[in-house]
Amino acid sequence: MALINEHFLKLPGNYLFADIAKKVNAYKVSHPKQKVISLGIGDVTQPLCPAVIEAMHKATDEMAKKASFRGYGPERGYDFLREAIIKNDFLPRGIHLDMNEIFVNDGAKSDTGNFQEILRWDNNIGVTDPVYPVYIDSNVMIGRAGVFENGAWSNVTYIPCTADNNFIPQIPDHRVDMIYLCYPNNPTGTVLTKEELRKWVNYAIHNDSIILYDAAYQAYIRDESIPHSIYEIRGARKVAVEFHSYSKTAGFTGIRCGYTIVPKELTASALDGTARASLNQIWDRRQCTKFNGTSYISQRAAEAIYTPEGRKQVKEVIDYYMENADIMRDSLTRLGYKVFGGINAPYLWVKTPDGIDSWKFFEQLLYGASVVCTPGVGFGPSGEGYIRFTAFGDREDCREAMKRIAEWTLK
Ligand code: PLP
Repeated sequence: MALINEHFLKLPGNYLFADIAKKVNAYKVSHPKQKVISLGIGDVTQPLCPAVIEAMHKATDEMAKKASFRGYGPERGYDFLREAIIKNDFLPRGIHLDMNEIFVNDGAKSDTGNFQEILRWDNNIGVTDPVYPVYIDSNVMIGRAGVFENGAWSNVTYIPCTADNNFIPQIPDHRVDMIYLCYPNNPTGTVLTKEELRKWVNYAIHNDSIILYDAAYQAYIRDESIPHSIYEIRGARKVAVEFHSYSKTAGFTGIRCGYTIVPKELTASALDGTARASLNQIWDRRQCTKFNGTSYISQRAAEAIYTPEGRKQVKEVIDYYMENADIMRDSLTRLGYKVFGGINAPYLWVKTPDGIDSWKFFEQLLYGASVVCTPGVGFGPSGEGYIRFTAFGDREDCREAMKRIAEWTLK
């Protein structure tokens, strides 16, 4: 008899966005004429930029000719992309990386979900709360999260980030082996200063912990004093792995490409504490076994982002989304909502009025204004009493949604 991995059975039945889709569909069935505007799911809406399209056409043509056809690529990614990453994303910030510290992937979801498997199942984890659900669910799957009781996992340290602490996660008073940090943050849209991030790096050095740092939204940082990479902090190479994604940087949600940095100095202990193992080597071994690389066409597409035209075009799209964020922030603030984030990130985190719970406000907004948001509690206990809006929509939809919310709020 084949037995299932019982940890998978512990996962809540539905993914948050499936629950939302169900409720939105029910609304659409009862209101077939009403156009629903979604400011809910964090997918991009604007097309790929011309430099990327051109690179993809060129790469496709190469695949059509025997002389330039490519089969399996290197597991860590093609040199042309890894060189461009080092030169453009890190060197200008004074960060020196070796080519072999970069692992090109098919987007940050795979690696943020998978990296934990090279660490023992009985390490404990800490997450900022609210949190991108992948960090928790992937730890549930390996049996690290414990049991789910009263909306929280028993073996997970939830580090609350709410308006009360200005969304700054406080260092726990106990040891946490693996810490997930995501900045700019999904879902709150808030950022950490260098000073605050340094506290976490020092904590990890002091406690021999590992930080899993998700920088998927770093391209949205507008305040240049905010760190784009954890390696801007001295000592971080010894304690942190960092995940990057082209999904939100350049509209690659459907193309699939990103990369992970695993520094050579990053090590973890064997159980008896006698030996240190290189996570770079182990991750490489894991990838060579389970991953056959990202498509050549996607990697050429990613490379094009670093050309002068590519950079300019990508920036225009990011500016477009961030203008949406400005419009939303202004309009919601004027209506009296308490709005957080949306300055260095494409997400706005909004306090529900009069302490209404997140799902209730979600429904009120859907039925009152035909606008979809994401209920904050879906991201963890500290998300209760908040909702998330994304800035990834069309400008027209964004304006129309704000107009509807204004009419509904002032009614
Ligand atoms: N990390 C965070 C914080 C995200 O919000 C997302 C996507 O929404 C991802 C990672 C995954 O991105 P990708 O499309 O690169 O898999």
